[in-house]
Amino acid sequence: MAGKISLYDQVNRSFDKAAELTDHHPSLLAQIRECNAVYHMSFPIKRDDGTIETIHAWRAEHSHHKLPSKGGIRYSLLVNEDEVMALAALMTYKCALVDVPFGGAKGGVKIASHNYSPGELERITRRLTCELIRKNFIGPGIDVPAPDFGTGPREMAWIADTYQTLSAGELNSLGCVTGKPISQGGIRGRIEATGRGVFFGIREACGLAEEMKPLGLTTGIEGKKIVVQGLGNVGYHVAHFLEEAGAVLVGIAEYEGAVQNPGGIDLEALVAHRKETGSILNFPGAANLAESKDALELDCDILVPAALENQITRENAPRIRAKIVAEAANGPTTFKAGEILAEKGILVIPDTYLNAGGVTVSYFEWIKNLSHVRFGRLEKRSMAAAMGRMADAVEEITGKRLPGQREMYARGAGEADLVASGLEDTMIESFHQVRETQKSLDAKPDMRTAAYVLAINKIALCYQELGIFP
Ligand code: NAD
Repeated sequence: MAGKISLYDQVNRSFDKAAELTDHHPSLLAQIRECNAVYHMSFPIKRDDGTIETIHAWRAEHSHHKLPSKGGIRYSLLVNEDEVMALAALMTYKCALVDVPFGGAKGGVKIASHNYSPGELERITRRLTCELIRKNFIGPGIDVPAPDFGTGPREMAWIADTYQTLSAGELNSLGCVTGKPISQGGIRGRIEATGRGVFFGIREACGLAEEMKPLGLTTGIEGKKIVVQGLGNVGYHVAHFLEEAGAVLVGIAEYEGAVQNPGGIDLEALVAHRKETGSILNFPGAANLAESKDALELDCDILVPAALENQITRENAPRIRAKIVAEAANGPTTFKAGEILAEKGILVIPDTYLNAGGVTVSYFEWIKNLSHVRFGRLEKRSMAAAMGRMADAVEEITGKRLPGQREMYARGAGEADLVASGLEDTMIESFHQVRETQKSLDAKPDMRTAAYVLAINKIALCYQELGIFP
């Protein structure tokens, strides 16, 4: 067997395939492709039992064509330099696709969170932040981390607090990290943003008869059979929004195993079962699968890998039965597997586009932190009053009362409404930009390649207009 291809190589293969469809100079393409800076840290932390452990962590800033650079921090034993470089590169292309004005970055700490107490995790996170500050790898205008696999609002709050402590008087310091709790400068709608964005992307694809027909599917989400791998932040919320729209969850995979029920699995009941028993297995009415990964091969309409990279490989790709693979995780399909899925006529909605909802709402949070005011705070009441006057006028002119409660009309948008609206618009707009790019190319590439072409074109234009310093 040929040697394992690293995730960074996988990303670059996709880049090279797309780059061939552009007419940019090779030297410009090389600059876009390269990872600009990587910082490998090792630092000690004191464990609760008094022993000292050396922690390894990385931060990669793939591109500085726009600043700050932006990308999550993951806590996982699988983290390594190659992986953070690959994920940082994906962030560059993702931000370009959804017109979020950031370069791509990613960070990782090589630990399994469950092996550490909350106190130990706090010490690791705060020390990591110090190391990033020391080398100028964090700051509201420099590099802005966010949650990723194994991290969440709690870790982001520790990062923000440490940064603020060490940068006293820096007015915009809260913008040094996103995905914070709302009480710490976070934004409503960030937690579910990636999953909600994935849902919008799937909904756009499923709304197109010309895409659904060749797959033998009708349009719409309702009744579609779904399998989700990973019931974490992203996976849970995708499953939630799809279920809410009438899809049927027929399989769920977690690290401890997988369950299936062709008749449907009630998401909230499964989550409650896992909370109670510590596992999704033995869920009433559902069958356990021998191996967690077997869930990827279940008969379904839409497969949503929402856990980790390299899950669909050349080995299992031939057995994938889904009609659509919706890449909620980063890099879940290897380059070779992508080719196999394309040959099988499976529609792959690529990660670079599909999970961009997280960074989109992180961008909104960053704007909120820099403007020091909650979205909607100034105009909500004024908008509600204007809509109320409009409703009065309609009633007066028609001589009829508008149906339903008055609040349906006389309502202003608050932060959660505005975030959901901005996210929906972004995901719809980008989906159609990718489709237009796909249609405009003679090669009629798959959606991933079209997304890369679009991202490359946007970044190339930026470099051309920027010029090169000095
Ligand atoms: P998370 O830690 O909240 O959830 C990951 C889940 O996957 C966990 O429940 C974990 O137990 C499960 N898992 C781990 N190994 C598994 C396996 N082998 N099989 C099945 N399940 C397994 O992480 P997340 O934030 O939901 O991130 C998931 C993916 O989405 C990652 O690839 C991440 O890079 C990507 N992503 C996350 C965000 C975000 O905003 N959180 C944004 C964009 C992309």
